[in-house]
Amino acid sequence: MISLLDQRKPQVHVTGAQPFAMACDKQSLAGSVSQRACVFCGSRVVLYPIVDAVHLVHGPIGCAAYTWDIRGALSSGPQLHRLSFSTDLQEKDVIYGGEKKLYQALVELIDEYQPKAAFVYSTCIVGLIGDDVQAICKRVAAEKNIPVLPVHSEGFKGTKKDGYRAACEAMFTLVGTADTLGIPRTSINILGDFNLAGETWILRRYYQEMGVDVVATITGDARIDDIRRAHGASLNVVQCSGSMTSLAQMMKEKYGIPFLKVSYFGLEDTAKALYDVAEYFPENPAILTRARTLVAREIAAALPALRHYRQALAGKRAALYTGGAFKAFSLVRALRTLGMTTVMAGSQTGNAQDYDHLRQICDDGTVLVDDTNPLELAKFIQEKQVDLFIGGVKERPIAFKLGVAFCDHNHERKIPLAGFEGMVHFAREVHDSVMSPVWQFTRRPAETIQPPALPGGTGIAALATEARP
Ligand code: SF4
Repeated sequence: MISLLDQRKPQVHVTGAQPFAMACDKQSLAGSVSQRACVFCGSRVVLYPIVDAVHLVHGPIGCAAYTWDIRGALSSGPQLHRLSFSTDLQEKDVIYGGEKKLYQALVELIDEYQPKAAFVYSTCIVGLIGDDVQAICKRVAAEKNIPVLPVHSEGFKGTKKDGYRAACEAMFTLVGTADTLGIPRTSINILGDFNLAGETWILRRYYQEMGVDVVATITGDARIDDIRRAHGASLNVVQCSGSMTSLAQMMKEKYGIPFLKVSYFGLEDTAKALYDVAEYFPENPAILTRARTLVAREIAAALPALRHYRQALAGKRAALYTGGAFKAFSLVRALRTLGMTTVMAGSQTGNAQDYDHLRQICDDGTVLVDDTNPLELAKFIQEKQVDLFIGGVKERPIAFKLGVAFCDHNHERKIPLAGFEGMVHFAREVHDSVMSPVWQFTRRPAETIQPPALPGGTGIAALATEARP
C-alpha cells in the first residue's frame, strides 16, 4: 500500500471533491523523487532543436548526458544540434575556475563548425564557482563575429520552468537583430513545437496550404537567421505554452506582436488552432476558406482509422503525465475521441489556471497530480486500474514494471503525433500497446484476462499462470 507524503497532499486533487484547491508552481519537495528535470534541462529542451548553432554545456560531463540521441528533434539541413559538447569541468577547474577552458572550447568549436551562433549553458557548478560566463561569451562574440549567448540555467536555481525562461531570454536577445524586409502581413511564428519526428514540417505544410507565411519555427528545425527576423511576423502561435509563453510575452511587450495559445494534438484542437490563426487575418477571407477545406479533407481521411481503433479501445482507462499542462488538455480530448476515459492526469509545470481547466474537462473522480513522483504514479496507476499510461522516458519503466501499456508522448517519440495524421498515429500507438497480448503475461489487477492456452500447455503459459498474484 503506497501512501502520499503529507506535504505532497496539497498537490494532489480528486476531481469532484470540494473545494478545489491545488498547490502547484513550486519547488519540488525534499524527499520526493520528482519526475521533473532541472533548470538546465528545461533550457536545453527548448534550445536544442536550433540546428545551426553550437550548444556547449559548461559543466561536468554528466550534465551533458541528455543528448540528441534520446530526443528526436529533426533537421531539414544542418545537423550541428546532434553533437553534444561539454567543457567537462574537473576538480582542478572547480578550484581555479573554468573560464579559460570555456574560452578555449568556444573558440575551437566555432573555428571547427562555423555555426551561426553558440549557446553556453551554465550548470550548477558554474553558479557555485562563479565563472563569468557572460563576459567570456561577449569576448568570443566580438572576436568571432557571431552571437554567443549565455544561458543562465544553473540547475539548482528553480524549477524546469525557470529553465524555459532562461532559454527564452537567451533567444530574445537574438530577435530583432535582422532585417524583416519582404515579410508579408499574413505571417506567423510557430512557437513551442520542437519538430519531434518531423511534426513542425506537418504544421508548416498546413499553414502553407492556408496561405500563411511561417517566418520562424521556434525551435523545431530552427535557424538562427529566422529567429533574428521573427519580430517581422504578425502573430506568434504558441504551442507548449509552458515553455514558450515568456518569449511570446516579451515579443508582445517589445514589438507589439500578439500571441495565440494553441495545441496540435487531436482533431478538435488541431482544427481549432488552424481556424484561430485563419481568423486572425479577416482581411484575407481566402485563408479561412482554405483552412476549412484542409480541415474537412484531413478529418475525413482520419475518421475511418479512428473508428476502427475506437471499437477496440472504448471504455479503456488512461493515465497521463506531461511536461506542460496544455498537452494534457489535448490528450484528455483525444482519448475521448477514442472512447477512452482519463482517470489520472498531471504535469510537471502546470499552474493554478491549468489545473482548474483540467478539473473542468475531466470526469469526476479523476486524480490530478502536480510535480509527482514514481511512487505516486505507481499508486494511482494501480488504484485506478489503468489500461494505458501516457508519458515520457521517465514514466515508461513505471508502466512496464506494473504491466501496463505505454504511449510515449514526450521528446523521445519517433512517430509524429501532431496534426490530423498525428492523431491517427496516436490512435494506432495506443491501440497496439493497449491491445498487445503481452499484457496477458504480466501482473494485472484482479479482473484481468486469463492467459490463453498455448500449444503444449507448458512454457510461457505455465510461467504466466505461476506469476499471477
Ligand atoms: S541539477 Fe545541476 S548538476 Fe544536475 S544535471 Fe542539472 S545542472 Fe547538472
